[in-house]
Amino acid sequence: MSTDQLVLVIEDEPQIRRFLRATLVNHGYRLIEAINAQEGLAHAATHNLALIILDLGLPDLDGLDVTRQVREWSDVPILVLSARGQEQDKIAALDAGADDYLTKPFGVGELLARMRVALRHAQQATDASEEPIFEVGDLKVDLTRRQVTVANEEVHLTPIEYNLLKTLVQHAGKVVTQTQLLKEVWGPAYAAESHYLRVYMSQLRRKIEIDPARPRYLLTEPGVGYRLKVE
Ligand code: CA
Repeated sequence: MSTDQLVLVIEDEPQIRRFLRATLVNHGYRLIEAINAQEGLAHAATHNLALIILDLGLPDLDGLDVTRQVREWSDVPILVLSARGQEQDKIAALDAGADDYLTKPFGVGELLARMRVALRHAQQATDASEEPIFEVGDLKVDLTRRQVTVANEEVHLTPIEYNLLKTLVQHAGKVVTQTQLLKEVWGPAYAAESHYLRVYMSQLRRKIEIDPARPRYLLTEPGVGYRLKVE
């Protein structure tokens, strides 16, 4: 899929731009490049983009500000690139509305997989007919009937466990930060109560994972949040 879609790359490092250009062109994407935030924002405002790949460490503005500005007027998926040691910036960018991130150095396979998830999610949001049944491996979540099964056996979840799983299903494939999960499941006042999340995530894993210590579906993104596997 995904040929001919226009991707904006905002990145000041020439080697990474070269790598992205080669990879994207090879896989049928078109791209425009910006070497700083101002240029990137100008392109974002004047092109019909399928996706933005955004470096967090730019010479003029940081990627966090770029994310916030783009989100004032656009839902285009944003994939942020971060260097090691930029954990806080990465989380802040996700909380500001970025869709996912890649930590440098990253490989071609990982880049393309993250792009596919972000593009698919944007497409589903546009269709507004999102599949009410989510399935991966043995796990099946029916959002209409609020029913969860593992290998065709119904799993009984508490309301909080269900809402936690539902939130991850709604963002399936993408990383969801701890703050986002706490706000969506418990409410804005609980945004800092990360121990709630740890407790309920481990309960949920005990109910739906075969080996909760080595989860296949509910993956931890260390220091950031969680991701529900899609493929
Ligand atoms: Ca940079």
